[in-house]
Amino acid sequence: MIKNFLPKQYAKDKKFIIKHNYLSEQFKDYNLIINKIKKVIKYNDYTLGKEVNIFENNIKKILNQKYVVAVGSGTDALMLSLKCLNIKEGDEVITTPYTFYATIGAIVTAGAKPVFVDVREDYNIDVTKIEKKITKKTKAILPVHWSGKICDMDEIMKISKKYNIPIVEDACHAILAKYKNRYAGTFGEFGCFSLHPLKNLNIWGDGGYLVIKKKSLYKKIMLMRNHGLVGRNKNLIFGYNSRLDTIQACVANHLLKKLKNITESRIKNSNFVDQKLSLIKEIQLKQRSKNIKEVFHLYEFRVKNKKIRNGLLNHLIKKKIDAKIHYPIPMHLQPAAREYNYKKGDFPVAENISNTTISLPVHEFVNKKQLNIMISSIRGYFEKN
Ligand SMILES: *Cc1c(COP(=O)(O)O)cnc(C)c1O
Repeated sequence: MIKNFLPKQYAKDKKFIIKHNYLSEQFKDYNLIINKIKKVIKYNDYTLGKEVNIFENNIKKILNQKYVVAVGSGTDALMLSLKCLNIKEGDEVITTPYTFYATIGAIVTAGAKPVFVDVREDYNIDVTKIEKKITKKTKAILPVHWSGKICDMDEIMKISKKYNIPIVEDACHAILAKYKNRYAGTFGEFGCFSLHPLKNLNIWGDGGYLVIKKKSLYKKIMLMRNHGLVGRNKNLIFGYNSRLDTIQACVANHLLKKLKNITESRIKNSNFVDQKLSLIKEIQLKQRSKNIKEVFHLYEFRVKNKKIRNGLLNHLIKKKIDAKIHYPIPMHLQPAAREYNYKKGDFPVAENISNTTISLPVHEFVNKKQLNIMISSIRGYFEKN
C-alpha cells in the first residue's frame, strides 16, 4: 500500500521551534487574499480567469520578459517545455543527478532519457563535463539553479550555441536570482518556475509558470496548457490540461508585492550565517561569487563526512531546529532510475554532497535570535565532538 505520507510529515515538522515551514506566519493577512477570492466566486472565472492574466503580466514586468505562461506546476512547466521541443522516445536530455525528483520526472514523462553530468562543489552542473555527454540524440540541456544559485550560464550558452541544443532552465529555486545582472529563467528557450507552498514565491497548492523566448514556442505552450484549444469549438493540437487556478493566482499576486522583501531577507540571513559559520573550521561553506546574486531557496553547508553530518543533524533536531538534508540520495541512485544502470561512484561529487550536506531555515520569519541559536548549536556540537 502506498500511503499519503504528507500529513505525518506535517505533524512532525510542527514540533520544531525553528522551522522550514513558515506558512502560518506568512499568511497571517489571509483575509486580504480571501477578499480577492470572493471576487472570483462572484465572477466564477475559476479557470484561466482575470487574475491569471494579471499574474502573467506581473511576472513579465518583474523579469522584463515578453512571454510568460502560468501552468499547473513547476513539473508541468518543465515537462511542457520539453514536449514543446518535440522531444520523443529515445531522445536524451542532459541534467544533473543533484536535483529534486521533479526535474527527472519531467524528462521521463516527456518521453526522454535523462543523461546525468556530475555537479561541482557548489551543487550545480559541472559545465566542463557537459560536452562529453552530447550525442546525436541530445535534444536539450537542463541546468538546475540549485538553492537559488544560477549555474555557469556563459559556458552553458556557449555549448548550446556550438551544438545548437536548446536550454531549458529549472529555475524553481531561483526567482529573482541573477547571473551577471541577468535573471534566472531568462537565458534558455524556457525558464521554468514553481509556485509550490515552500518555494520562494508560493501559493496555497500547486502552480508554476514559464518564461519563453520565442513567440512560436509561446504560442504552442499557450495551446498545450489548455487542450490545444483556440476557441470553444476549435482544437488545433491535442494538448494537456495544465492551468494555474484563478484562486491561486490571487495568492500569487498578493505575495508578489512581498517578493523583494522575501528575497532580501533570505539573502541577509544567509550572509549573517555565512559570516558566523566561516569561523567554525569543521564547516565548508559554498563558494560565493560577486557575479551571482543567490536567492537562498536553501541555505546549505557541508561537513567532512556522513558520520559527522548525521551526528550534527541529530544534534540540531534534538534542539528542535528543523535542519534537513536536501537530499540524501542523488537521482541516479534512486530506485526509479534503475533502468539506466547507474551505480555508486558514477557521480562522486553529487554523492559526496548528498552524504555531507545540511540545510538550515533562513526564510523571512527566522529572526536574529533564532539564527544565533542555530549557529551556537552547531558550534556547541563541534566543541563536544
Ligand atoms: C519544486 C521543484 C520542481 C517542481 O515544482 P512543482 O511545482 O512542485 O511541480 C522542479 N525542480 C526543482 C529543482 C524543484 O525544487
